Amino acid sequence: MTEAPEKHFVVDSMLGKLAKWLRILGFDARCERLDAREQIEIYQKQGFFLITRNRRWSGPPRVFCLTANNPVEQLRELVSLAGVTPQEVRLLERCVRCNERLMETASEDALGQVPDYVFETHPSFHRCPNCERIYWRGSHPKRMVQRLEQTLGWTILSDSAGS
Ligand SMILES: [Zn+2]
Repeated sequence: MTEAPEKHFVVDSMLGKLAKWLRILGFDARCERLDAREQIEIYQKQGFFLITRNRRWSGPPRVFCLTANNPVEQLRELVSLAGVTPQEVRLLERCVRCNERLMETASEDALGQVPDYVFETHPSFHRCPNCERIYWRGSHPKRMVQRLEQTLGWTILSDSAGS
C-alpha cells in the first residue's frame, strides 16, 4: 500500500473550529489570519493547503474556499475538495490546542494528570510538549468522533479501541 504524502493545512483564523477538527484527525493545521496575497503565495510554494471562507483568495490551486457555516460541514467540504481519505487519519498525533505533535509519555507522567479511572484503564499516554496536556485513547469524546464518522461516512475508531 502506498501512503499519500502527509497533508499540511493553513486554516484562516475565522475557521478555528475546523482547525481543531483537523488536529483531532492528526493533521498539521496551523491557524492564521490570511490577509495578504504574498502570504498565500508563500504557503502555496511550501505545499500547504489553504482553507478560507474569504472569496478574495479563491482561484489558485490548493486554496479552498469553503461555503458551509458549520465546522463539521466545513470539514466534509474540505475532505472532498482536498481528497482526504480515512487512511490518512492519525488520532492522537496532534495537540488540539497547539497543533504540536504529541509525544508518547511514560504512564507515571499521567498519574494525577488524568482521572484515576483513565489512568487505571489505559496502558499508554501522549503528551503535548508545548502545553503539557495529556491525551489518551478516548480523550476525544466518543460522541464527537461518532459525529465525525457519521458526517464523513468513515470508520475512524476500530472496535479494538474499546469504549
Ligand atoms: Zn498543546
